[in-house]
Amino acid sequence: MAVNMSVSMKIKDSIEQSSWIRKMFEEGAKLRAEFGAENVYDFSLGNPDLEPPAEFFKALKKMADSTATGMHGYMSNSGFMDVRNSIAKKVSKEHNLKIEGNSVVMTCGAAGGMNIILKTILDPGDEIIAIKPYFAEYGFYVSNHQGVLVLVNSNDDFSINIDAIEKAITPKTKGIIINNPNNPTGKIYKEKEIDQLCNMLKQKSSDNRKIFLISDEPYREIVYDNREVSPVLSKYVNALVVNSYSKSLSLPGERIGYVAVNPDFDKFNLLMDGLNLCNRILGFVNAPALMQRIVAELNDSKVNVGIYKKRRDILMAGLKEAGYEFPEPEGAFYLFCKAPGGDDIAFVKHLQKYNILAVPGIGFGGPGYFRIAYCVSEKVIEKAVPKFKDALASFR
Ligand code: PLP
Repeated sequence: MAVNMSVSMKIKDSIEQSSWIRKMFEEGAKLRAEFGAENVYDFSLGNPDLEPPAEFFKALKKMADSTATGMHGYMSNSGFMDVRNSIAKKVSKEHNLKIEGNSVVMTCGAAGGMNIILKTILDPGDEIIAIKPYFAEYGFYVSNHQGVLVLVNSNDDFSINIDAIEKAITPKTKGIIINNPNNPTGKIYKEKEIDQLCNMLKQKSSDNRKIFLISDEPYREIVYDNREVSPVLSKYVNALVVNSYSKSLSLPGERIGYVAVNPDFDKFNLLMDGLNLCNRILGFVNAPALMQRIVAELNDSKVNVGIYKKRRDILMAGLKEAGYEFPEPEGAFYLFCKAPGGDDIAFVKHLQKYNILAVPGIGFGGPGYFRIAYCVSEKVIEKAVPKFKDALASFR
């Protein structure tokens, strides 16, 4: 018995829990080898295929040419102050609340942001509520810091079920994660829902007991049909915003994002000190220096969302015509489709016979649905639509 001779039991379990990712990857590799990459329709990954906008490369070249002192050195663990000031301007606009650079911590992507927040606020056994279906990494992020993830249902249309959240609040509840726009549903929570949630949280919070609202927003700028994503900072003093440039500038590999905090939070300095320390002690130390400097110059840039919209429209029209049912994606680049017959794993397996790779909803706590990530070329979508149609016809 060599149970204590390699990785921990906890990590062994985590590897098993996330094995569907590996399964999809292996399935994809097998299909590509057999049928050729051009005949496999891989909608399994949320890895944006658009290249970063031209402004990014311009800023990158400028920074690369700079020989200014300290360009590549350590800085405050929260990031360069001029960078944080620039990001604060962007956040102030988006969240309808004037904040300064001292409310911002630059992070290694949204994932880094989530982890420094959870490390800062959680004591062992504290609970964090998330809404199903949800980004499954939250489970790992919470357990990284000895927290317990408590999952609650959304309403049938994937809007926020305020009652369900209220009922899930216990004396151990430390925070609630919302993800807006949502992965995997593509839903944008309406401002009214956010207002109701914040009002409920205000009633449940007191001087001695704060319930944080952690708004994970890496898709904030990927929205369709002139929709807007509600602010949270101006609505709730205990709100924390997490954002990144992984999707809005297509920079997931560069690991750059930020956390923003309401300056009126009553233990503001302590919270900021905690986030600063956790960036350091989790081993990130600080967000990449070069990327900080670049994103600080790109407050007004983003990828061409029109491209994602066109893909969404082609996919929606094709799937609708074929007879699939799904809520219209309002943002992000995911379509969460009802699994015909109700068994998402069975249907995803059936789709593989047509060389289509999608992810069963069970992986997001949303069984009965499957996720199609349409951050793939228009050509792939166009070729896949008749396959989706054939798959449905042969499944009935
Ligand atoms: N949160 C959500 C909802 C995501 O979908 C992702 C990535 O797909 C992340 C966080 C992590 O983003 P990042 O690459 O910026 O760490």
